[in-house]
Amino acid sequence: MRRDKEDRATDAPRFIFGPVVSGRLGLSLGLDLLGARICSFDCLYCEAGPTEALTVARKPYVPAGKILAELARWKAAGHGRPDAVTLGGLGEPTLNSDCAEIIAGAKELFPGVPVAVLTNSSLLPDPDVRAALGAADIVLPSMDTLVAAEYARLNRPHAAVDLGGLRRGLLDFRAGYGGALCLEVLLADGINDSEENLEALRDYCRELSPDRVDVVTLSRPGAHPGATAVLKPVLARFRQALGPAAASPAPAPEPATEGHGPTALAARRNDDLGPSLLASVKRRPQTARGLAAALGHSLDAVQAALDALERDGAVRQRVEGREIFYSG
Ligand code: SF4
Repeated sequence: MRRDKEDRATDAPRFIFGPVVSGRLGLSLGLDLLGARICSFDCLYCEAGPTEALTVARKPYVPAGKILAELARWKAAGHGRPDAVTLGGLGEPTLNSDCAEIIAGAKELFPGVPVAVLTNSSLLPDPDVRAALGAADIVLPSMDTLVAAEYARLNRPHAAVDLGGLRRGLLDFRAGYGGALCLEVLLADGINDSEENLEALRDYCRELSPDRVDVVTLSRPGAHPGATAVLKPVLARFRQALGPAAASPAPAPEPATEGHGPTALAARRNDDLGPSLLASVKRRPQTARGLAAALGHSLDAVQAALDALERDGAVRQRVEGREIFYSG
């Protein structure tokens, strides 16, 4: 019995999580390029918890070979086709110096599936990073504020990440990039919802001309209690101000009925549910209902697996409003 458990733990994905239902990307299969809380920022609102290694050093934190081998096993196991493969995870993915190889490998394994990269934009002043991201189909950079004091308070960057350089780096990337650029601005109440930031972001969006701007606020528990959501009118004002490109976040897509989504995924057995759930909630707090929809299992099965993980001390609950979120 003990041996069986150990064997299954060895097979469990370590760097792949989800798929999760993403409002912007659909059913998104996540790749964690860091394997630990390594980031160039330590944002107050981070869903993955406080940054443990605040750095700008680029290294193969998780080598491309390991991630791509895991991705190939995931594909061979007969999982349905995701809507996107997304590089992100427990920190800033462009810190992984194998980023370009991972993008190329994901495209080869899943032809026709867009490869997306979530980035905090901090490394874009580096031409090597811009070149690596140039091969992605969708890049989703974040830029929460252009006011230095707000940036220091909300994003809590590594000392080497200068706001002016970051601002310029994203413009330089945009100038040479042929894919879709979707800017994200996250607003925290009383921190970056100022008039000064709104004006600065409006000018910047005109210059950057992203394909889309998503203005969002906190919807899940963040790393620090200091950050809370803005009210709806504030969100609406920023969305309106950030120009015609500032679309509201797209609603989560309806589950697909062929090829991927719950119908196909439900055919999978439940015996790998615990490790999959754990891998997913370690990266992002989620509700049992959200996990059930994303992973294609019944709510009862997901709830039972979460209860077991909680008894083992592997996950914990946090109540936010009327929802219960689980995190690893
Ligand atoms: S939200 Fe993103 S950029 Fe900020 S600390 Fe978390 S992983 Fe890093």
